[in-house]
Amino acid sequence: MQDGPSLGRASDTLLSAGEIGARVVEMGRQISADYDGQTLVAVVILRGAFVFASDLVRNLDPHLDVKMDFVRASSYGDRVVSSGVVELQGPDRTLVSGQHILIVEDVVDTGRTLGALSRQLNTLGVASLEVAALLSKDRAREVDVPVRYVGFHIPDVFVVGYGLDYGQSFRHLPDVRVLRT
Ligand code: 5GP
Ligand code: MG
Repeated sequence: MQDGPSLGRASDTLLSAGEIGARVVEMGRQISADYDGQTLVAVVILRGAFVFASDLVRNLDPHLDVKMDFVRASSYGDRVVSSGVVELQGPDRTLVSGQHILIVEDVVDTGRTLGALSRQLNTLGVASLEVAALLSKDRAREVDVPVRYVGFHIPDVFVVGYGLDYGQSFRHLPDVRVLRT
């Protein structure tokens, strides 16, 4: 077997699977109430938000009309510090134009990723635009995009698990852990 980063480096649990699950249920209720009677397009930022998005949409009211699009965003590479340049692939113009959009993000750090995606969505023309983020880091934003739905406010530490990676590893962890450096 090949050696990857070991779990020992990421073993301080910040948010347990149970805590996350309970909060995602609440977020689903809130979003369902706010979008009652509307069509909602959830735009998921890959790769990190795939676990959160998968749990969140399954906690939306089944009677809501929910569509989904996926955007590939990368800025970190394999480093712990953002490179500052956000590359975006997507969204699908035919899916998002004129729609009520909910961006689904894993963690808001500098705000650059959300800034870049919001700009692109606004250029395509949307009916409304809100953000649901599992995590929001307590730090000064470089780009300020209002986040309507925040799962948890966390300190400015590097976290992995529940979709979040370090060097593409640890995404499968059911909880959110602080990476020891
Ligand atoms: P921003 O553009 O707000 O600086 O950063 C957002 C993106 O950077 C997130 O979507 C996520 O992919 C990545 N990121 C920011 N902080 C962390 C972190 O603590 N852990 C991991 N794994 N990724 C992070
Ligand atoms: Mg992300």
